Amino acid sequence: MEDINKIWDDVLNIVKEKIPASSFVPWILPLVPHDYNGTQFTVLCGQMLAVQIIAKSHQAEITKALAKVVGSEVEFKVIYDEELSKKLKKKSQKLKKEELISNLEEKLSTSSKYDGLKQMYSDYNLNLKYKFENFVVGANNKFAYGASISVAKEPGKKYNPLFIYGGAGLGKTHLMQAIGHYILFNNPELKVKYVKTEEFVNDLVNSLFKGLDKSSKMNKFREKYRSVDVLLIDDIQFIEGKERTEMEVFNTFETLHNAGKQIVITSDRPPENIPTLSDRLRSRFQWGLLADIQVPDVETRMAILNKLAADNNMIIPIEVIEFLAKVYKNNIRELEGAFNRISAYSSINEIQINLENVKKIINYSENKKNITIDGIIDITAQYYNVSPQDIKGSARVQKIAFARQVSIYIAREITNESFPYIGETFGKKHTTIMYSYEKVKEEMAVNNKLKEDISILINKIN
Ligand code: ADP
Ligand code: MG
Repeated sequence: MEDINKIWDDVLNIVKEKIPASSFVPWILPLVPHDYNGTQFTVLCGQMLAVQIIAKSHQAEITKALAKVVGSEVEFKVIYDEELSKKLKKKSQKLKKEELISNLEEKLSTSSKYDGLKQMYSDYNLNLKYKFENFVVGANNKFAYGASISVAKEPGKKYNPLFIYGGAGLGKTHLMQAIGHYILFNNPELKVKYVKTEEFVNDLVNSLFKGLDKSSKMNKFREKYRSVDVLLIDDIQFIEGKERTEMEVFNTFETLHNAGKQIVITSDRPPENIPTLSDRLRSRFQWGLLADIQVPDVETRMAILNKLAADNNMIIPIEVIEFLAKVYKNNIRELEGAFNRISAYSSINEIQINLENVKKIINYSENKKNITIDGIIDITAQYYNVSPQDIKGSARVQKIAFARQVSIYIAREITNESFPYIGETFGKKHTTIMYSYEKVKEEMAVNNKLKEDISILINKIN
């Protein structure tokens, strides 16, 4: 008998060129060759989801490769193997445990630094979930991901600054914090600081104007931002066009850059489209590397859902994954939100995750348009004859600002999501969202036309 392991290796070598890595790595690679009797080649599979995905999308490709390797037509069969499944689960738990322990040991061996490290994670509020390991790479983010890895491996050396831009909920903050985690893990002696632009500005204002000992406050402020090795500034589009802020950001940038320290910046749009940015800052931001993140394609959206399911030890039928990937197109935060709702709901109520139940959970109906915040923005924008980009942007032109406020009001009314959540989707501060909501609500009480418009809009959206 030919060595089935050798046959399978050859097959893998062929199909890995044909099947995207986002499918190949999680689903095909873990298969275990089991039997070959001359007409049928069987492999064992420990993941139910993989059996479904392979049957649906990769069967033909693998069968073709098999024929090429053995020189005749062979049936390719995937068998779900419970034992393997248990082993896989155990292995992943064990791996996780081992990883945890070895991480900890590594940290402890650099003993005195350990406290410092713990401190860092809490000080610099990096979210432990936002690591490279948890980031699904697809065609939409490959470039930004690659750039982030390079920067994480050699901070301050390669691309400085790294400027990552893209729409809300597409993974900018995740990638930026992943850089932070990676650097802290591999070079615990380096100082990493993550800051939201809003927070940076508030901090600056507080140091400038509050209290009597201004200069010592200002020194502290500078010490905080200029003594770091890696500065991560999130959502620079929120920078206000104030001279003082601009100057401080500029000087911080110059100080760090001249000292060879790494700077990473994110924004919802490229530097040339941020009106509140001064020319000199804009040109600095263009010195390094600009990397954009696009809306993920359906394969990537499915891969993200698959990963979420696997991480949560959930088995989700392929048609549910496909369905969700189809409904939530433009914003991974919303996709993830839907997944979390389903996961929570199904575990609390012990219901089966199938298409019918999932549609109920996310309030989906065939005759109704499915409601997403992006959908609300689209419809409101159309109604008021502005573009969705306008609404997510920061232009203060009355017509645009008004449409923006109305869509914020409707988003809150219909989805009942929190102000911070809506803020993330709109690319706005949550205080702006609250303010807009209240303002429209007040106005509606005295303005019948507005009330009518909003009810028309809500009808269109539902
Ligand atoms: P942004 O900063 O661009 O608005 P975030 O980085 O906050 O978006 O991402 C929104 C959510 O989607 C986060 O929970 C993040 O973990 C998740 N996410 C985004 N992109 C990916 C990806 N490629 N793989 C896995 N999760 C992702
Ligand atoms: Mg973000």
